[in-house]
Amino acid sequence: MREIWEVIILGSGAAGLTAAIYTARANLKTLIMEGVEVGGQLSLTTLVENYPGFPQGIMGPELMENMRQQAQHFGAQLRPMAATRVDLKSRPFRIEAVEETFWCKTLIIATGASTRMLGLESEKKLLGHGVSTCATCDGFFFKDQVVVVVGGGDSAMEESLFLTKFARQVWVIHRRDKLRASKIMQERAFKNPKISFIWDTVVEDILDPGLGKVTAIKLRDVKTNQLSQKGCEGVFLAIGHVPNTEIFRGQIELDHMGYIILKDGTRTNIPGVFAAGDVHDHIYRQAVTAAGSGCRAAIEVERLLEAEERG
Ligand code: NAP
Repeated sequence: MREIWEVIILGSGAAGLTAAIYTARANLKTLIMEGVEVGGQLSLTTLVENYPGFPQGIMGPELMENMRQQAQHFGAQLRPMAATRVDLKSRPFRIEAVEETFWCKTLIIATGASTRMLGLESEKKLLGHGVSTCATCDGFFFKDQVVVVVGGGDSAMEESLFLTKFARQVWVIHRRDKLRASKIMQERAFKNPKISFIWDTVVEDILDPGLGKVTAIKLRDVKTNQLSQKGCEGVFLAIGHVPNTEIFRGQIELDHMGYIILKDGTRTNIPGVFAAGDVHDHIYRQAVTAAGSGCRAAIEVERLLEAEERG
């Protein structure tokens, strides 16, 4: 006899774990497939100061471990695996991992979005130590310092403008000579005396992993190939996000950027399949908003199953 879970949650970031806390506490048989980035993006950050309830802040990995334990406390089962294929044509839904297949009555997709990275070794080593993917989260640590923002889209402009509240100087490094950002964001950034632009330039390396902190970046002008170095204390990457929705393509409705389209709360186009967190939200992208949408998805799952039971 195959085992049928009442709910399977894909992803173990703030959205997935909050959903699990709610569904497990509601006595629903809950399985979490933790995914590739266990603990989600918060497990990659250091101090989280804007998650309510922690006046002194809390380390990202610790916050996620707490959520994990809270979900387990109510009986949610966690498996360190990622879904590789899903079949959502009929219920129970079929979810495949590398060596196992699972079935569920309802599914919550909380697979998040991954920050697009430059792909440098130094960037990996210094992430959380001067390299950041979130100005809202980390801007505060750069009071009166010099920071660079990489990217030319709306996120890069938004991050730069936000950083001017703290930093002494913000350099925007863009690989072309025109911004992709909307006119209004461009104008705001151009007007801000703390923001300067370096055009047609890419980041070749970030210094200094040996010291465990950011001291400078190495740049290359793409038109002349000339190399240069710029001293800075922080590097903010704002070159876009990639929603983790590849395995749902063709089954779940996605927008042109690949984010899941929701209607009526956290419902997707398939009855019984819900989504929460950054996998559908490219606007707020905060731990607390992800947790909130995980809660909403869990309550909607609970109500659907109850209604089906009543017949
Ligand atoms: P985006 O629009 O895709 O912009 C990414 C930027 O990063 C582009 O300028 C791109 O350069 C650059 N880039 C990409 N890969 C790179 C690489 N490997 N090396 C160097 N540069 C690289 O992403 P986004 O800014 O995150 O915005 C995503 C969506 O959210 C957009 O629709 C945006 O309008 C929306 N958004 C809106 C707001 C707002 O309205 N307040 C705020 C944030 C986001 P190229 O230009 O050369 O391609």
